[in-house]
Parts: sequence; C-alpha cells; structure tokens
Amino acid sequence: FLSIKGLAKAFGELEVLKDIDVSLEKGKVLSIIGPSGSGKTTLLRCLNALEQPSRGVFSFEDGLVLDFEKKISKQDWLRLRRKSGMVFQSYNLFPHKTALENVTEGPIIVQKRDKTEVQEMAERLLDKVGLKDKMHLYPHQLSGGQQQRVGIARALAIEPELMLFDEPTSALDPELIGEVLGVIKDLANEGWTMVIVTHELHFAEQVSDEVVFMDGGYIVEKGVPEKVLKSPQEKRTQQFLQRIL
Ligand code: ATP
Repeated sequence: FLSIKGLAKAFGELEVLKDIDVSLEKGKVLSIIGPSGSGKTTLLRCLNALEQPSRGVFSFEDGLVLDFEKKISKQDWLRLRRKSGMVFQSYNLFPHKTALENVTEGPIIVQKRDKTEVQEMAERLLDKVGLKDKMHLYPHQLSGGQQQRVGIARALAIEPELMLFDEPTSALDPELIGEVLGVIKDLANEGWTMVIVTHELHFAEQVSDEVVFMDGGYIVEKGVPEKVLKSPQEKRTQQFLQRIL
C-alpha cells in the first residue's frame, strides 16, 4: 500500500526523524512504540500531510509518489492529505458543534459532498462506534471515551484509505480506555489499513501485524508483535519494554 524510504524531518536544527524506512501492506496494522520525543507523532503528522518532511520518498500502490527532495505539487500534497484520517490524542473536536456536526463537517465543508448523504453516513458511523443516542450532544456533554469515539467516526467520515491513531487512549481515564480500543480492534478486523502510535502494549500485541520500536528519530527494531514485544533483539527495545512494563 505504502513504502516510505529515507524519511527525515527537522524542526530548525533539531532532526526529529533521521532515516526512516517502513512499508505498510493494505489491510495490515502497524503499531509504533517508543519513548517520549522519539518522533512517533511527527511520523504520523508527515503521513497525514500536517508536516512537510525534509527528505524521503513516499510511494503509494496507486502510483502516487512524493519525493520530498523535489518540489511537491499542491495537487499531490492534497492527494496525500486525503489518503488518511487522523485520530488525535486530545480528540480535537469542535467544542461548539454536536457529535453529528463534528462528523459531517469535513465531508460537507471540505469535500463538498451531498448533505443528506453525508448526514446518513455520519449517523451510521456514530452508530457503529456506539453513540447513536448521543449524536446531538456537544463534546463537553460527553465522556473522554465518547469524545474519542466521535473522533474516530469523524476520521472515518472522510473515507480515507488509511487510518492513523496518535496515542488515542493516553488522555483517557483507565476505565474508558477499553471502549476506544474495542472500536479500533473492530476496525482492524474489518480490514482497515492502520498505523497506531500507542503505549498500550497488550493492545498492540493483539491488534498489530507489525510493531516498530522508535528511539531518537530512528527505527531501532521492527517485526511481528511476538518478536518485538516478547523477545526483542535490540538492547534499547529491551530497556524500553522493561521500563514501561
Ligand atoms: P510523545 O510520545 O511524547 O508524543 P513522540 O515520540 O510522539 O513523543 P514527537 O512528538 O514526534 O515525539 O516529537 C519529537 C521531537 O520533536 C520532540 O523533541 C519535540 O519537541 C520536537 N517537535 C515536535 N514538533 C515540533 C515543532 N512543531 N517544532 C519544533 N519541535 C518539534
């Protein structure tokens, strides 16, 4: 589905991503783990066209190729942006819009799709994430877990090919984590292609086809979950797992 080669991203002097090579097959789930500041969020933001990489090449199965050493056309940049839906750590819902309006906003305003159709789709998506009876409530009237499920429905509403999750449960109280992870697991079972940054190792083990461990802007180790999470080869992975378990 996607191959990333030699991805680097600097903020001024600070090189946050150094030389990332990773590929993702259609219908597979890739989880990214690693210490704070290792560049996980920046990697997702590059994939979602929220940050422009300094170097590297993204090649998609459908022929879209972005080589960041060259000038990227506006059209290719938009194609990249449209490929993925992003679920943020802090939900990022519009506070003055209802759950339903949060989900319909992107498709109606940005994608200019038919209002009635979008409305029906949004209701279906909110039902899918278990919020059929809450769709006319505002974010402040919802729990964190419910807000995050609206965030997931909103990302799905733009009909992306790829779903990106940036620590989707780290702002949640422990008792609300399960309901959000449950929705993400359902998506994995439905065959969505996904990249998930998470500190929930048990979840990563259950849901992922591949796990990547990042540290200091590099991929230190990658492989099937049993290998990376249970018998890591690299010292830095071992130390990280010991610290957080
Ligand atoms: P966490 O688990 O804490 O979210 P992370 O692995 O996701 O960490 P990033 O958020 O990608 O790490 O950040 C990597 C580094 O890049 C950090 O040192 C951060 O301060 C820096 N950074 C991120 N965004 C910017 C920015 N817009 N401008 C300058 N520095 C930034």
